[in-house]
Amino acid sequence: MSPDIDLLIVGAGPAGMSAATKAREFGISVLVVDEQPEPGGQIWRGIERVGHTARAEILGESYTAGLDVAARFRQCGAGFSSETTLWHIEPGPVTFLKSKGVARRMTPRVVLLATGAQERPTPFKGWTLPGVMTIGAGQIQLKSAGQVPDGPVWIAGTGPLAYLYAVQLLKAGVEITGFLDTQSKGRLARSIGPALAALIGRPSDIMTGLAWLARIKRTCRYVPNVRQIVAGGDDRLDRITFEAGDRAPETVAAAALFVHEGVVPGIHPTMALDCRHQWNDMQASYAPAADEWGETSEPCVFAAGDLAGIAGAEAACLRGEIAAIGIARKLAVQTHAQAEQDAAPLRKRLAKAMAARRFLDQTYRPRQAAFVPADDALACRCEEVTVGQIRALCRAGKGDPNRIKAFSRAGMGACQGRLCNYTVGNILADETQSDPASIGLYRVRPPFRPLTLDELARLQTDEADT
Ligand SMILES: Cc1cc2nc3c(=O)[nH]c(=O)nc-3n(C[C@H](O)[C@H](O)[C@H](O)COP(=O)(O)OP(=O)(O)OC[C@H]3O[C@@H](n4cnc5c(N)ncnc54)[C@H](O)[C@@H]3O)c2cc1C
Repeated sequence: MSPDIDLLIVGAGPAGMSAATKAREFGISVLVVDEQPEPGGQIWRGIERVGHTARAEILGESYTAGLDVAARFRQCGAGFSSETTLWHIEPGPVTFLKSKGVARRMTPRVVLLATGAQERPTPFKGWTLPGVMTIGAGQIQLKSAGQVPDGPVWIAGTGPLAYLYAVQLLKAGVEITGFLDTQSKGRLARSIGPALAALIGRPSDIMTGLAWLARIKRTCRYVPNVRQIVAGGDDRLDRITFEAGDRAPETVAAAALFVHEGVVPGIHPTMALDCRHQWNDMQASYAPAADEWGETSEPCVFAAGDLAGIAGAEAACLRGEIAAIGIARKLAVQTHAQAEQDAAPLRKRLAKAMAARRFLDQTYRPRQAAFVPADDALACRCEEVTVGQIRALCRAGKGDPNRIKAFSRAGMGACQGRLCNYTVGNILADETQSDPASIGLYRVRPPFRPLTLDELARLQTDEADT
């Protein structure tokens, strides 16, 4: 790993790969790191290994679109360090990475954070039972290892990724027993304006979504308006109880349950840096505030892709390229006028790529029960803190996420609050009848990814190498 690097890109997904390829066109020296063994990010996980196999046909065209992006990335001359994790970042920018048991400090001139999204944590009773997992986790098994679940298989949730995964499983020959659609009743009817804009701007997205839904309805039991879900079983999932519409609760046999309520930007790195963040009410999540090039409130730290706000893979590629042009401008490799000229066509394409965004955000915003689970659900699975315990602390006057953390240990486990930060914020908002945006999230402390004492003790610095 060279210390003499202009640009360190964290994340080799659509945004990171596209940014690296573009930055290399300006002669900028680039190192891309990713905690995964291969480039591709979430959507194109394992693309170089899987992209030409039968599994790629199951995953669909949106998956194989990554082949070309990954090939151009490999040829662009950027360094790539796989299985390398950013575990802390400070102003400077100073980055702290670890790879194969060795931690090191690096001080590139500019950092581009392209660390993507994470699935929205939506706890419910029984969500930690073996047999229950998120759709993202199920998709990782399918993409990386071709693994599919055994029946009875249920999918519960809403949004494009839930429908896509169901269709991918069907194409893989899996019999899906039922699809519990948690989309709030009447949301589609209230999204007519955005739906028309999406139809005009991105007709193919809308037609693809409708085709997925039609296939799901044709091939498995489809239950709309699902309000509540409880997963049951002694030591693993064996049943699901759900409430849909005005009907009485129903219990069904289940061996696998995949849940999903959308994705949110993975803001731990920008939170660690204390960057300014903005609340996006439609996406019910925060994203780092950034200028038109993606530069955050922390000088020389840029954000691109889903970290900068959920917008999908095509937009992630374009935002990666725009950030690379902005970085070239920052490093005085390009003039402002040249940068504006280069970015103009990309910005046009970005607007088109995002034409369906408002429709998707509005239509698939999770129902209130997804944000505020029942008292007996685990809110923090690492430290086993229930929703009821958090409510009790709030009533006792500890109504701030950091005080909840100190008094309950919620957010202090291995995931460092990645899985419970929004849940705690939403519970506090509900308990105090306030806006989640006014509650905020836990302060992020280093390391925001697990780090062993041995790795920390052997921390190397780039200065020491020179
Ligand atoms: C679980 C999941 C599955 C998804 N599947 C699909 C799909 O099948 N189809 C679809 O259209 N959209 C999917 N999405 C949405 C999709 O991720 C985005 O639209 C798109 O991939 C965003 O690209 P990106 O480059 O911003 O981020 P990503 O593709 O998420 O890439 C981010 C990369 O950063 C790396 N990274 C993150 N944190 C660190 C760190 N601290 N240190 C080092 N590396 C790090 C990750 O390993 C990852 O490779 C999925 C999202 C999630 C969360």
